Amino acid sequence: MDRRTFISRSLLVAGGAAVGAAAVEVPRLWPSAHLPFSGGYAPAADRMGYDITGNTSITWHVDTTEQVLAFTFDDGPGPKWTKLVLDTLDHYDVPATFFLVGSHVEAHGDLLKGRLDRHEVGNHSWSHPDLATLDAPSIEKQLSRAHDTIRSVTGRDPRLFRPPYGHLGGSTLMVADRMGYSLILWSHEMNETAYLKNPPGQVQEIVDHARPGQIILAHDVGSADRYVALSQLGAMFTGLRQRGFRFVTVPELMALTPKKTT
Ligand SMILES: [Zn+2]
Repeated sequence: MDRRTFISRSLLVAGGAAVGAAAVEVPRLWPSAHLPFSGGYAPAADRMGYDITGNTSITWHVDTTEQVLAFTFDDGPGPKWTKLVLDTLDHYDVPATFFLVGSHVEAHGDLLKGRLDRHEVGNHSWSHPDLATLDAPSIEKQLSRAHDTIRSVTGRDPRLFRPPYGHLGGSTLMVADRMGYSLILWSHEMNETAYLKNPPGQVQEIVDHARPGQIILAHDVGSADRYVALSQLGAMFTGLRQRGFRFVTVPELMALTPKKTT
């Protein structure tokens, strides 16, 4: 079992354990549905009749010494800002990874037509629920409906999956494994609400905190603060390049992972 497989299996166990613990002591402090690993017991795969490999990987950062990082944009496409993001990426010659919401692809797929050549797409569910609160068949519907729509609209067969809110609990990992997905989280994020007060300061924060192998979370759909953050993308790219960074998609970043010797 390699390290990532071990992590996947550990999280499955942790997910089951958290449900039991939450029932006893957590509800007074925090609704259990909001705990990262709670909200839905993860049934045994064989009881579900699922044939899974147990090899799903979870990546939030890639161990590399190369000055590379990956920008990711979640929740799109959307009519307000997806075009702005794609135009900015083109202008600055930056590849990125979009974690698409299936229902948004169905409604606004035209925004992506002919625009994804240099970019990667991933599955971010059909309607952005907290998958940790759903049972396995419902999670599978969320992923497969989004998968089919992304494929039919973009011509791409997504291999990456980012669960909404980064929640991995319940049966989420099991279903992702069954469908052959790699799970992608993030190691840094744009603090979007802070951009309203001090956009240059937030650009500097992104530039100063860049690390080799980092995966940065941003959103191209949502509240107005996200627009302010997106309007600063060019300044971020320029600042990061001045620090010697280059930009890659998430699969390109993952390909840099040092080979295990065991
Ligand atoms: Zn999201």
